[in-house]
Amino acid sequence: MTYRVTLIPGDGTGPELVAAACRVLEATGVAFDWDVQEAGAAVVDKYGTPLPEHVLASIRANRVALKGPITTPVGTGFRSVNVAIRKALDLYANLRPAHTRAGVPNSRPDVDLVIVRENTEGLYSGIEHDVIPGVAAESIRIITRPASERIVRFACDYARAHGRRKVTAVHKANILKATDGLFLSIARQVAGEYPDLVFEDRIVDNMCMQLAMRPQEYDVVVCTNLFGDIISDLCSGLVGGLGVAPGANIGRDIAVFEPVHGSAPKYTGQNKVNPCATILSGALMLYHLGETDAAKRVETAVDAVIAEGRAVTYDLKPTRDDPSAVGTREMADAIIAAL
Ligand code: NAD
Repeated sequence: MTYRVTLIPGDGTGPELVAAACRVLEATGVAFDWDVQEAGAAVVDKYGTPLPEHVLASIRANRVALKGPITTPVGTGFRSVNVAIRKALDLYANLRPAHTRAGVPNSRPDVDLVIVRENTEGLYSGIEHDVIPGVAAESIRIITRPASERIVRFACDYARAHGRRKVTAVHKANILKATDGLFLSIARQVAGEYPDLVFEDRIVDNMCMQLAMRPQEYDVVVCTNLFGDIISDLCSGLVGGLGVAPGANIGRDIAVFEPVHGSAPKYTGQNKVNPCATILSGALMLYHLGETDAAKRVETAVDAVIAEGRAVTYDLKPTRDDPSAVGTREMADAIIAAL
């Protein structure tokens, strides 16, 4: 069987990382028919938008995509293409696993977390405007019952399906009484339907401190959009950084797999950054496609190369200026050899 998958190389370091991931995925023996689609700043002149409709149409048709990061201008310019894809396709659950891997420098020894981030509303609703230009501006944070119910249900179902014991809901309901008050009350209600799981909640600032000090006490963590974005980067930092942090955006019948990290634009074209986050996002895609054996082989090969510590990129060396660090392509070669 050949899987037709939408492939969005992205920009910045995205194309190098996606090329490396495709080589690894193909080396598993699983057959892919990549439907390559361009999005981001480079296509604006041609199509008048960074996210042309035919890109979304391709993902809708194939139902699965592998995506590299896409740069979003800071402060001005077009809105995030990444957020737009998630919203347009209603990919409501952003799954970001973070667990300890042997041999990763500067990582905690005992982390095994899954962050489930609500992907469609919250402070990423994009409803923002100047109240008085240059003086005051306003953002609207939307929290709804349907979106809160389905994300907490997703987190609980995920916990059950993967043999996990505890779900922690993260909020700021002491201050954001209407929005996070609603999210928390719905989270408690939905979690009540899962008596086999331990449910608890944490205020977001305390949660950051708890994760930094006692990450081993947490398991599945469910968050509204902005808190999930921040907490998942924090958890990536606990296990060695963004270079090893994969992600998946999951909807009812469409899923888009992409690393947690951004386009790392300062390293564009340098064959320097770590391909593992994109490769491991590809492994999540293989699980999604039902190719469990291939997915496990990719993860095992990545783990073996990291544990050996020889053919790894600069971020996985004890010091960042280690001259023995290899490039993106060479690390992918080592992972393919380990497969
Ligand atoms: P970033 O994730 O690109 O980089 C943050 C830090 O992590 C940098 O020091 C970078 O060098 C390092 N890093 C990132 N990926 C790495 C890798 N694979 N290997 C080794 N080191 C890695 O975040 P940023 O600098 O805040 O954002 C850059 C651009 O990416 C922005 O335009 C932002 O909007 C965009 N972005 C896109 C996505 C996405 O496409 N889903 C996600 C986050 C940020």
